[in-house]
Amino acid sequence: MFFYWDCVQASWQVFGECIPKMNSKAANPLKALLDNRLILPEDRNIFQTYLTRIENGVQEGMPEDSLEVQCHVKSKEGYQWYKINCHFKKDKQGRILEAAGILELMSAIEIMQKSQLARLTMDRNPQVFATAIREQFAKYPQDKFAFIQFDVEKFKMINELYGEEFGTEVLGNILNTLKGICNKEQLFARLSADLFLVVTRYEEEKELIEFIHYLEENLNHYKDVTYSFAFGVYLVTDKTMETRHMGDSASLARKSIKGNALQNIAFFQESLKSTLYSRKFIEDNMKAALENGEFVMYLQPKYSISENCIIGAEALVRWIHPEMGMIAPMNFIPVLEENGFIVKLDEYIWEQACRTIKTWMDENRTPVPISVNVSRVHLMKEQILHTLKTLLEKYQIPKELLELEITETVHNINIDGAIHSLKEEGYTLLMDDFGSGASSLNTLKNTPFDVIKIDREFLNHFIESERGQKIIAHTIHMTKDIGLDLIAEGVETKEQAVFLQDCGCNMAQGYFYAKPMPLEEFDKFIS
Ligand code: C2E
Ligand code: CA
Ligand code: CA
Repeated sequence: MFFYWDCVQASWQVFGECIPKMNSKAANPLKALLDNRLILPEDRNIFQTYLTRIENGVQEGMPEDSLEVQCHVKSKEGYQWYKINCHFKKDKQGRILEAAGILELMSAIEIMQKSQLARLTMDRNPQVFATAIREQFAKYPQDKFAFIQFDVEKFKMINELYGEEFGTEVLGNILNTLKGICNKEQLFARLSADLFLVVTRYEEEKELIEFIHYLEENLNHYKDVTYSFAFGVYLVTDKTMETRHMGDSASLARKSIKGNALQNIAFFQESLKSTLYSRKFIEDNMKAALENGEFVMYLQPKYSISENCIIGAEALVRWIHPEMGMIAPMNFIPVLEENGFIVKLDEYIWEQACRTIKTWMDENRTPVPISVNVSRVHLMKEQILHTLKTLLEKYQIPKELLELEITETVHNINIDGAIHSLKEEGYTLLMDDFGSGASSLNTLKNTPFDVIKIDREFLNHFIESERGQKIIAHTIHMTKDIGLDLIAEGVETKEQAVFLQDCGCNMAQGYFYAKPMPLEEFDKFIS
């Protein structure tokens, strides 16, 4: 809608399409917007001030030849962002003689830029962002677009180490820097806390990666602190798809490398989708599964190679889903570790193990120790000692019968403390997965562990070559030499068992002896 204000005659005129319900015949049609309550209450003041400035003509300290205001005006779709742009004709003294202006709906990009300035997070106005993207798609129908979603790795830690105020500054700095880096047509937004999105056009993937590196270099530090990002990229293939789904795909790519020190950019691939469904499936179903007893403890026997008899068992969880059947732990444990639910599941399995030992004792059978897996997530919690103690007391079983398997990766102060406390309390500790990438010889120095569990992959891989065999043999000798016990896992053949025994490792667990099995089967097996 166009308007014209004759300052001398004090008369208004409007042309073009008006806002519905706007009284274009009113003496002052803009003022009629106010009178008819078509301006959002919060915006009424700035709108009124704007009108007064036009009507009063010359204002001191107003050298501009034009004036703009943005406010919410009620239209068919409810309140929408409008802008009024007005140009003046002035006399020699600078008094306004005439004003001509335009009142129009703001484009999504303009609103975006406005909200970026106001540092709004997108969760408050996602539809604006979506519309801005659509506008870009329409403007460049032939061009390729990419969604780049990224978040600060270990942002929580920044908050913990430097305080939340500093964390907020970091995020503000990221947003400000993005404002400087991105051009007018590269849309960016803060999606939530430390999660950001940039939508950009590109020609080649190479150029996109360079752009991401450029973003990274500029964003990864604030004051003296540096941090890293995980970037997930979705290359738009079908522009008619909902933009929300495009964002989801970028998000999925990002999550696939979160916490990965070696890779910080990932492109979306269709195959990631199955992870998405199973993640959602797991998170939607885990609570009910625990309540319904769908998580079941399986036991895998541990053998003495020389005596060929069972000397213990490892408790391994299985998810027996009524429709999906058996789900292997590697398909759900990583998700539960990420969302913390593993703590509940572990405790549930520990209780099953304790109950089993108790039953064996009550039935006057010689109980064998059961080892349970302890997730690293658990070791960061204070409650672990208390939980174990309560369980042992409840079932009245001696500490020696419940052993703890822990995967020792790099030293971590938070976890080391918990492991030492467990040791002081007298628990038998098994270092799980020894020889896998995560553990190192270094972890053996001053270790509180009692038993080293040789990793299945390590065993199978090294045993193939003469050189590898020597490494296994020496590892076993060294471990025994410093007074630690050994058990090999994943023993699949008689040759492997014999080799291990020759090297001095007399305990083994693996398919050669028995697979993990339900309790009833184990009970039959042992007798
Ligand atoms: P892990 O603790 O290293 O457990 C040994 C895994 O090797 C088990 O896989 C077992 O079934 C498998 N295995 C044993 N012998 C052989 C063999 O001869 N050949 C082959 N190919 N595999 C063998 P599973 O049960 O699928 O468990 C995988 C991992 O999931 C476990 O690795 C453990 O890290 C985790 N896990 C299982 N149950 C629990 C639990 O209750 N709590 C926690 N936190 N983690 C668990
Ligand atoms: Ca284990
Ligand atoms: Ca293991």
